[in-house]
Amino acid sequence: MTWFAQDVSKYWMDLPRYGKEYINGVQCFLDFAYTVGDPQGEEIQCPCAKCCNIRWYRRNVIYDHLICYGFVKGYTRWINHGEWDIVMKVDSDKDDEVNSNVNIDGKSVTAS
Ligand SMILES: [Zn+2]
Repeated sequence: MTWFAQDVSKYWMDLPRYGKEYINGVQCFLDFAYTVGDPQGEEIQCPCAKCCNIRWYRRNVIYDHLICYGFVKGYTRWINHGEWDIVMKVDSDKDDEVNSNVNIDGKSVTAS
């Protein structure tokens, strides 16, 4: 299964945490994190407001945290959980080779 960032809806992140949609969303997030992300064994970084992606926990713990505390503010792009397909704008260096032809007139004519 291939995931793309645009397939992951996050509207639920702003919904009340006791609502069904939010809970479904959390499951969705966990699926995403364990499928696309890079879990260390059974653990992933906990993106809840308390752990702030610093602590690592198992799925059921993170589920509880996300229901209890919610996501850390501003974590709308799950960069720690697989959503690292940020389009890198690589500015290709345009090598403007300026060939400056310097004509050095080294001849000095001395009039005597
Ligand atoms: Zn947590």
